[in-house]
Amino acid sequence: MAKSYDLIIVGAGMVGALSAILLAKSSLRIALVDKHDGDYRLSTPPAYDARVSALSSQSKRLLESVGVWQGIPHDRIAPYDNMVVWDGLGEGFIDFNAQATAMPELGHLVENAVLNQQLMTQVRRLKHIDLYLGDTLDSHQLSESGVNVELASGQLLQAQAIIAADGALSKLRTENAFETVEWDYGHHAIVTTLEIAQTHENTAWQSFGEEGILAFLPLPSVDHRHFVSIVWSVPPKEAESLMALDEAAFCRRLHYAMNRRFDVLGITQERQAIPLRQRHAKHYVTAGLALIGDAAHTIHPLAGQGANLGFADVKALVEVLEKAHRRGEHLGASKVLRRYQRARMLDNIAMAAGMEVFKRLFSTQQPLIVQLRNRGMMQFHRDTWLKQKLIARAAGISSFS
Ligand SMILES: Cc1cc2nc3c(=O)[nH]c(=O)nc-3n(C[C@H](O)[C@H](O)[C@H](O)COP(=O)(O)OP(=O)(O)OC[C@H]3O[C@@H](n4cnc5c(N)ncnc54)[C@H](O)[C@@H]3O)c2cc1C
Repeated sequence: MAKSYDLIIVGAGMVGALSAILLAKSSLRIALVDKHDGDYRLSTPPAYDARVSALSSQSKRLLESVGVWQGIPHDRIAPYDNMVVWDGLGEGFIDFNAQATAMPELGHLVENAVLNQQLMTQVRRLKHIDLYLGDTLDSHQLSESGVNVELASGQLLQAQAIIAADGALSKLRTENAFETVEWDYGHHAIVTTLEIAQTHENTAWQSFGEEGILAFLPLPSVDHRHFVSIVWSVPPKEAESLMALDEAAFCRRLHYAMNRRFDVLGITQERQAIPLRQRHAKHYVTAGLALIGDAAHTIHPLAGQGANLGFADVKALVEVLEKAHRRGEHLGASKVLRRYQRARMLDNIAMAAGMEVFKRLFSTQQPLIVQLRNRGMMQFHRDTWLKQKLIARAAGISSFS
């Protein structure tokens, strides 16, 4: 006998879990399925988790609206009110400052595991959500009038629609033959956390240079000790040799790659190298199914926008589904789900295109281009209006569409 829901959400990562919470608060009955057991083992500071996300003020507001943000311990959130970006091959730099734009901060750094755990705590409090953890889809059938699912555990589920929040390698996307536009960025991102000798000044530092794209992202300080999370994007061969360095040599390379701005005292978390791929589904929906978050699109992490775009997808999809529910429309109908696709696709494509331009512009060491880009950066740096526009976009306050 199948259990009946309004929606089945596959994937209880940041995007799927937040969707479930928002939809359950609108009294929709949700089945939330994840192959993970939903229990995030947190590191103890100063050994912060190597995976962190820079969250925009729009994402923060969405998390606040359901009480998730308030549950994150203060000593696991690092606000940043400055961002400094410079060209390692020249004099060009841009700094972005929250005060100049009348914002309290530019964003917040939160460890992914801390956020995921807080989302799951909230999920478990909601009686409209049934959790199927450590489980996955075995088979499913989609139609305009409803979906049927069999889980690997043998449990049968039925609902009006499935939301695929199953991440970058989404099985639901591939099994339902969604076409994608995708290519390798030719970069692997090395992530870890460091202890540094100087304060990070609540600033996100990013260098584009011969040594690749390197970000030092502020983490909470502990007993006057200072920590940053790094994302260091380099070609795969270079990533391999950086991963092979011993700790002291790795820290020395970081010191030089960051223009000797920081003395790196040591790494406090194991290094991970993550291959980076640009991927965008040509469609986000079909009858009975909507792709959301990384299942729909992945971009280069250089501007820290992937999860923020995913949360913007969540907001748009929840608004569409709530409205359709109030009107008595079928939630899996193509015409309903297409409203979500229309609301989000242009914005996601524009962000992906912007990341590609940035990545290409800074991958070249051609002297003429280096000279032009340094001049361009300095002009940009002096243009307060343009900087405010870009900050508003990154904060999710304005969109391209
Ligand atoms: C190095 C790096 C740095 C980044 N930094 C930032 C940043 O600073 N700011 C930002 O906004 N974004 C950042 N991002 C992007 C961000 O991490 C992702 O966009 C975000 O985590 C995507 O969340 P998601 O819930 O869509 O997918 P995921 O987090 O991948 O979650 C997918 C979930 O689905 C589950 N799942 C998968 N397959 C199945 C299955 N078959 N059955 C059941 N469950 C399944 C998984 O267990 C998982 O829980 C970064 C990305 C990288 C690689």
